[in-house]
Amino acid sequence: MRRIIFTLLALAVATAVSAQEKKEYPKPEAMRPAMTEFWTPQPKVVKPGDAATCSAPSDAIVLFDGSNLSAWKSSRGGDADWVVHDGVVTVDKSKGDILTKQSFGSFQLHIEWCVPENITGTSQGRGNSGVFLQDKYEIQILDNYGNETYANGQAGSVYKQVIPMANAMRKPGEWNAYDIIYNAPVFNDDGTYKVAPTVTVIQNGVLLLNNFVIRGTTEYIGHPRVVPHGDGPIRLQMHGDPSEPISFRNIWIREF
Ligand code: MG
Repeated sequence: MRRIIFTLLALAVATAVSAQEKKEYPKPEAMRPAMTEFWTPQPKVVKPGDAATCSAPSDAIVLFDGSNLSAWKSSRGGDADWVVHDGVVTVDKSKGDILTKQSFGSFQLHIEWCVPENITGTSQGRGNSGVFLQDKYEIQILDNYGNETYANGQAGSVYKQVIPMANAMRKPGEWNAYDIIYNAPVFNDDGTYKVAPTVTVIQNGVLLLNNFVIRGTTEYIGHPRVVPHGDGPIRLQMHGDPSEPISFRNIWIREF
């Protein structure tokens, strides 16, 4: 009998507590569409470039518009000394690389390149150049139209670190476009990556690399090295292979 009374008392207390809890925690207000709509800040207005020519958006830094190399310098010192003609710039293989005078952190880069229709050579010796991000990490430029090479060294690779997801080459004599989205690294005090750099590469509208985590510098011989650095320039490579020289046009960058 005593046990029954105790059980009944416990049930009564539990019911009372439960009722109190319900009173303290009222049913939440029903969600309305406006509750998940944010109106500020509004994105800044950027006037896009021409869709057909991929010209620079209104807030881009134009690095080469076909007229001169005033935004660039030579890796050997002094002015950039490749050949500007007919709205394009062609590598001078007797000169060095060229680098932007300005340094950049994270960015979106557009660059177009073309090898001559009559290009010769095979594998890495055919229209080899490259875009170095922050002067450290090479996105390979190479004529891979019907030209096989080691897969982690083909056009759009982070050189010798990753095989691109596609070969999206246009044939020699036609223009290729790279759109590169790069997130700069953050370093620990000991010089290792706290946040490694990452890159997305699109060639001619085709995704080649999707937020690839860069492992370090892009070495011809040996493994990537992690070298602490801050902002850095864009470097275009003068490769010493004997094939006919590559040309560039319409280069612009947007930092973010
Ligand atoms: Mg190269």
